[in-house]
Amino acid sequence: MVTTHNLGFPRIGVQRELKFALESYWKGQSALSDLKTLGAGLRQQHWADQAPLDWAPVGDFSFYDQVLDMSFTLGNLPERVRDFHGDSLDNYFRVARGRSAQTTENHAGCCGGVAAGEMTKWFDTNYHYIVPEFTTTTEFKLDASRLLEQLAEARAQGVKAKPVIIGPVTYLAIGKSKDGSNRLALLERLLPVYAELLETLAGEGVEWVQIDEPILVTELDADWQHAFKIAYHHLKATKLKLLLATYFGQLQENAYLAANLPVAGLHVDAINDRDGVQLLINLLSPHKVLSLGVINGRNIWKTDLYATLDWLEPLAQQLGQRLWIAPSCSLLHVPVDLASEQKLDAEILSWLAFARQKLVELQVLAQALNAGRDAVREALLANQAALSARRASPRVNNPAVKLAVSKITSDLGRRESPYSQRAPKQAALLQLPQFPTTTIGSFPQTPEIRHARSEFKAGRLDLASYQAAMRQEIERAVREQEALGLDVLVHGEAERNDMVEYFGEQLEGYAFSQFGWVQSYGSRCVKPPILFGDISRPRAMTVEWITYAQSLTSKPMKGMLTGPVTILNWSFVRDDQPRSESCRQLALAIREEVLDLERAGVRVIQIDEAALREGLPLRRAQWKNYLDWAVESFRITANGVRDETQIHTHMCYSEFNDIIASIAEMDADVITIETSRSDMELLDAFDDFSYPNEIGPGVYDIHSPNIPSEQHMVELMKKAAARVPAERLWVNPDCGLKTRQWPEVIPALTHMVAAAKTLRAEL
Ligand code: GLN
Ligand code: ZN
Repeated sequence: MVTTHNLGFPRIGVQRELKFALESYWKGQSALSDLKTLGAGLRQQHWADQAPLDWAPVGDFSFYDQVLDMSFTLGNLPERVRDFHGDSLDNYFRVARGRSAQTTENHAGCCGGVAAGEMTKWFDTNYHYIVPEFTTTTEFKLDASRLLEQLAEARAQGVKAKPVIIGPVTYLAIGKSKDGSNRLALLERLLPVYAELLETLAGEGVEWVQIDEPILVTELDADWQHAFKIAYHHLKATKLKLLLATYFGQLQENAYLAANLPVAGLHVDAINDRDGVQLLINLLSPHKVLSLGVINGRNIWKTDLYATLDWLEPLAQQLGQRLWIAPSCSLLHVPVDLASEQKLDAEILSWLAFARQKLVELQVLAQALNAGRDAVREALLANQAALSARRASPRVNNPAVKLAVSKITSDLGRRESPYSQRAPKQAALLQLPQFPTTTIGSFPQTPEIRHARSEFKAGRLDLASYQAAMRQEIERAVREQEALGLDVLVHGEAERNDMVEYFGEQLEGYAFSQFGWVQSYGSRCVKPPILFGDISRPRAMTVEWITYAQSLTSKPMKGMLTGPVTILNWSFVRDDQPRSESCRQLALAIREEVLDLERAGVRVIQIDEAALREGLPLRRAQWKNYLDWAVESFRITANGVRDETQIHTHMCYSEFNDIIASIAEMDADVITIETSRSDMELLDAFDDFSYPNEIGPGVYDIHSPNIPSEQHMVELMKKAAARVPAERLWVNPDCGLKTRQWPEVIPALTHMVAAAKTLRAEL
């Protein structure tokens, strides 16, 4: 008999109940007890959803983040929050979100303000975790209360509970040393606390614990590999059984290590590492459980059940009782329930599976393995019918698009002349001063804009009135920028709800769910568009808005687009063709938009690639391949224009060192980047590389309501000028201003323009 289990369930709730409860609590509109009750209710619901499984996860629910939960379980709280004397959940939120000294939240007055913990991406997902902080003096102390409470709840509900924790090596690996000390030196201090935790759970009669070590799918040096051996030999004395869980990638050279750790079972991602499974079986000692992640926990497509069974059945023969099956990773990364979708096109809907549907698929697979395919014949046939329909659908396959992609040559991505020859032509046309000023695209999304959009979407405002309202906002943004004296203007993106969704809605091959929310961090959720078919652009998407904005001013107006790599990286993508193929299709579609803008007389065009770095694969060995097609896609999009047309690109905060050569290859005339908080140190990468084109290093941190002074921005730009020749520098904020308010933006940009004037006089 095959055993079924799940690694984790989405925690936000079908209607994002957790998000709204958190935000209401943070605003002081509800009590802590209400929030806790809601959390318990969600857990109860999620366990009910998982009731048919042999083992359901416990401890995967979180009020903010599972890594921060683990930090609290291990007693690893940053020094700055230790003196807090309120409820520990309030303290937890203080670490997660930071707190200014004057908030209205509980204990604001007595315990003062604290800085938020740093946040970073969880492996190659768009989920962000709170980075554990370490110093040489870090001590650990067990607090098992959260896990024990949830375990008791699960038991009361009759759930076969498998507590889930993050393993010690991954916990250290994904954290950050605050004093430059070696995190691995803490392992010795950390392991007794893990052992105590496992003993405590064993004492509660727990049989299996899932211990997540996804760091095993990345390249590990000898010290980190060794740490695995030390850690799991230390933990093997406990009475319960450990299921060591790896996911998101391939074990490759770590397979031998993983297979030989003294644990009772190993979970691997059989979606990403199917080819590694047989090798692993050969390596695994015959008493160990092998859990195969056979349902994709990272996308929203139905599983090909027949194909999965064809592959699994021989393995089930081979492994017998030792075979477990599960989704490839926690279902945290997919939306909760397809049944909520009322408006999604029925045909596309029939191809999809969200978390609840994926668990049903898992059941079908288990039944087919345990009782034979005939036992679930109808479910299998229905699955097959949906998959065949998808494969054959004319909405998925557009021969003209496939043909266009097959005809791509390197010429398509090449500008007429090198930057050194383009720059003087652009300068002659644009007539910009030294240290030209600009912004990154969006201006505040005011309550009026949001109201107009929701009225329009609800059908209470007609198209003409909606467009008139947006034009009014664009006019306002243009007038403000003229009054500020900025050099290159933007239209302000009033008409855009989101920089990806806006384009996805207008491209063929994209679908949008109503409730397909996925947690990004804390209460923040994103609803990635679903890229289901070959991509084409039926009509121009931005030209009318940009030409309207240009008609209001004689200053150059930047056309504003999102690049193909960013659109791809922020979407649910197809599983029936490589990402590179989808990206090239997007590139051709956005290229047409670029050329239409140029034809319409737009002289400066910005193509945002905010998420270019995010798409880097987990293993460095695969980076080059990704960067090659990502850069090629950008070049196809951008480089069909005449020398005189100035191409800008923009990237948010990134470790530019890793990708500087690729950025140079993109060959944008100007790149604007987020740098202000790094004190311009991020520019070192550009300096070391002798980056040849123009750069606008952000001087205004748009994440903060603080208004930077002119002097501060002048100083930052002087630091920039020490790294990049002054004649190639632009002056601009870090990123778009859509989350700010006009009363913050106006003084900040006034100072920024003044700073540029000072620089022109001084340098
Ligand atoms: N043009 C976009 C804006 O200004 C860029 C956003 C981003 O980089 N995340 O909003
Ligand atoms: Zn940005």
